[in-house]
Amino acid sequence: KVKGFAADNLINIIGGCCGTTPPHIAAMVREIEPFETRERPEITPALRLSGLEPLELPAEGAPFVMVGERTNVTGSPRFRKLIEKGDYDTALQIARQQVENGANIVDVNFDEGLLDGVACMRRFLNLMAAEPDISRVPVMIDSSKWEVIEAGLQCVQGKAIVNSISLKEGEEAFIKYARTVRRYGAAVVVMAFDEQGQAATKDDKIRICKRAYDILVGPQVGMDPHDIIFDPNVLTVATGIAEHASYGVDFIEGVREIKRLCPGARTSGGISNVSFSFRGNNVVREAMHAVFLYHAIAAGLDMGIVNSGMLGQYDEIEADLKQKVEDVILNRNEDATELLLDKAEEIKASGQTTGKKNSGPDLSWREGTVEERLSHSLVKGIVDYIDDDVEEARLALGRPLLVIEGPLMDGMKVVGELFGAGKMFLPQVVKSARVMKKAVAYLTPFMEAEKSGGGSEQGTMVLATVKGDVHDIGKNIVGVVLACNNFKVVDLGVMVNCDTILARAKEENADFIGLSGLITPSLDEMAHVAAEMKRTGFDVPLLIGGATTSRAHTAIKIAPHYPDEPVVHVLDASLASGVCSTLLNPEKKAVFFDELLIKQAQARARHERGNAAGAAQLVPIAEARERGLTSDWAMVDIPQPAQLGLQVLDSDDIDLAEVAELVDWGPFFWTWEIKGRYPQILDDPDKGPHARELLAEGKKLLQKVIDEQLFKPRVVYGLWPANADGDDVELYDAETGTDHLHTFHFLRQQQERASGADELMCLSDYIAPKQIGIRDHLGGFAVTVGPEVDVIAEEFKQAGDDYTSIMYQAIGDRLAEALTEWLHRRVRWEWGFGNSEDLTVDELIDEKYRGIRPAAGYPACPDHREKETLWQLLNAEENAGMKLTESFAMFPASSVSGLIFAHPESRYFKISPIGEDQVDDYAQRLGDDKATTEKWLAPALGYSPK
Ligand code: SAH
Repeated sequence: KVKGFAADNLINIIGGCCGTTPPHIAAMVREIEPFETRERPEITPALRLSGLEPLELPAEGAPFVMVGERTNVTGSPRFRKLIEKGDYDTALQIARQQVENGANIVDVNFDEGLLDGVACMRRFLNLMAAEPDISRVPVMIDSSKWEVIEAGLQCVQGKAIVNSISLKEGEEAFIKYARTVRRYGAAVVVMAFDEQGQAATKDDKIRICKRAYDILVGPQVGMDPHDIIFDPNVLTVATGIAEHASYGVDFIEGVREIKRLCPGARTSGGISNVSFSFRGNNVVREAMHAVFLYHAIAAGLDMGIVNSGMLGQYDEIEADLKQKVEDVILNRNEDATELLLDKAEEIKASGQTTGKKNSGPDLSWREGTVEERLSHSLVKGIVDYIDDDVEEARLALGRPLLVIEGPLMDGMKVVGELFGAGKMFLPQVVKSARVMKKAVAYLTPFMEAEKSGGGSEQGTMVLATVKGDVHDIGKNIVGVVLACNNFKVVDLGVMVNCDTILARAKEENADFIGLSGLITPSLDEMAHVAAEMKRTGFDVPLLIGGATTSRAHTAIKIAPHYPDEPVVHVLDASLASGVCSTLLNPEKKAVFFDELLIKQAQARARHERGNAAGAAQLVPIAEARERGLTSDWAMVDIPQPAQLGLQVLDSDDIDLAEVAELVDWGPFFWTWEIKGRYPQILDDPDKGPHARELLAEGKKLLQKVIDEQLFKPRVVYGLWPANADGDDVELYDAETGTDHLHTFHFLRQQQERASGADELMCLSDYIAPKQIGIRDHLGGFAVTVGPEVDVIAEEFKQAGDDYTSIMYQAIGDRLAEALTEWLHRRVRWEWGFGNSEDLTVDELIDEKYRGIRPAAGYPACPDHREKETLWQLLNAEENAGMKLTESFAMFPASSVSGLIFAHPESRYFKISPIGEDQVDDYAQRLGDDKATTEKWLAPALGYSPK
């Protein structure tokens, strides 16, 4: 029931669905007018496409629509390879990235000789439909094969776009296709082709489009003109062939005329084509795209199939380059191509072909107005001039608050927009925030002198890492992103107990509470906080984030404890401010909450069904034990370590430079929410330049840490005689070899697997059993880079430099992992079997060596409490200064611990889901009560505990 929605509209819709509207229904509809209404923005979209969310495009003044081009096998080699391999999961990631990067529509294409286009299209669209993050935007079904398009149309929900039909095969076929498109209710891209081929000149483009238009809106098809999108062919310029020189301007002028002659219809084009002759020179290509779009949009271009990362800004192109590009695009002089080629060579020679300027000390921006300079500093993250510029603005505007609310907020808005549109990446945003904070810090004394409270915040978020957990990089990033968006962020730090969080939220009159955590026990703590919020009568939304949290878990385990307000899982820091803004607006919040409740109820139902189905497939534990890995122990190489017992290393024994060589940089980019594989990410046309810059800064800081010995790493490890006893592993005293020291209790897989492997694994299978009388060994370790990481990070955070603060934490984590790799290599060597190992750094990072080092809390051994046993064995608190929190998180945060197995066939696996029979047995082995055991194993249970 929508305001301004007349009875006649509804009657028409019913008519559209049923053929005609029966008169008694029409009468009923008229009777209930005026409808009860809910406010809705007043737009009458001429074209309304839909994914899960509508994309509404009014006839006049619609924003330029970006169509993501990378889920296209002909355009993206990476996507093609994934589809050929059948890796649809990763292929979906690409679609998701496009949406995250700001694509309003995704183009999907499987036109590649060897692929079964119909099957691929069906499969991919069906998978996409299950991913709300992707299917919220409309789909452009792209194929030159009609059967593929029709297969696509049968899969999509809502209104999609067909790409494309044309007059290539003559009018009859064109009409047939167009009618079918209409029948499916889709919009359609019409390419400027006719029986003679592709339209290259302006006149041909106009003639063919007009002819197609008349047929489409005429009686034979009867299409709504708003459903028509013409693609008048973007062709490559500057190829050296004279006829191609006018292709750019032909397109632009063609668009202008087509829009005039074909009222209601829109225009689109594949933008990257225009610059094809400058492949490999992204600076020139970006400039060409920006210039081309600038003029084409001015002429009326409505959409573009683009790589949003390769869109420069028209205003920011260096003047000489811009002029030369413009000469080429607009075909303004004869040797335009030659001149641009020279310019391209020049750019190449100066080594900046990988896009996005790095024009060194180009200080021309310093000549702008103070507002322009502030904006530039913010967008580029330059702190060098900020104090001077802020002072100048303060004198000009008279009051410090006006500087914040005026030019500074304007600058941050630009940052927010660029980030939202996928044109800026997280590290840059964090750098911008650093500039903002420095500016505010400069102004604060003036504001205090004025005693003006600058309360212009959007809303207040109380943010904390929950009790028992120490990880806070993600939370810190969320804090920065929110602060950038003008939220007030009260960050309570790590290991914060529930009472403190709630008391502070009351005190601050918080609009939201945000909880973060990395390890699984934190999930329980979050559920506890939710329950307390309900009990004490809170009425603000709860946001959940962190590595082990998930949408499903939030729906199943947390939301039910606090049912009257939204409990939202926030996947990425970058999404936090969007969610918070929505929640601040009562109307949007109501809609959001309605939808969230439905989604969460569905997630719970799915979970229940999955549990019921899964439980049926679990093998009883007694039988599972019969099906473990069977080794012929007489044949297995069981090396005898040179030295048994504990060994302790401190920072004098550890050469950090040597450790640093083993750093795995892949996860470093994930920390900064730049998704993709390392090192390929460095050459990504979109993220590559940012990734390189970030990596260079990370390496620089790493070098500083090494040179100045800022961190004090410590290591304790040991090797003990060991034998398996069922699913347990007993450890014996290193000296006597027989006195029982400790027992590790492991869990076993119970789920039948589709993969065909029918062994049901338990870590104890990798250790020789007691009965056969061969002494085997097990290793254990705990390493830390030291508490200095967080101390230094905190100093920078306090000083307002979140970027450096987060960078220290990220480098600390990388070094902790590298130190583990370094230690593991040393242990294999000391154990004997590693002597002959000859692996490169990449092979080490790829874990190509013999043996594994499973960590408690991970899939093969999900019970975090095993760390307690390990800590006693290692005396890790004394020997390495490492503590365990009540949730068994390790402190300091940049730490790793685990067990080391030598069995040649040892692999990582996951034991979940496990059955109640095993949990009973396990609790008994531990001497623990069942409910407590179930709590610690919650994520691994294959049933719902009572
Ligand atoms: N190069 C990575 C290494 C850490 S991640 C980095 O720098 O971040 C891989 C580690 O996670 C393994 O070495 C192991 O300790 C742990 N792990 C992975 N899968 C596991 C599983 N199934 N069970 C137990 N531990 C696992």
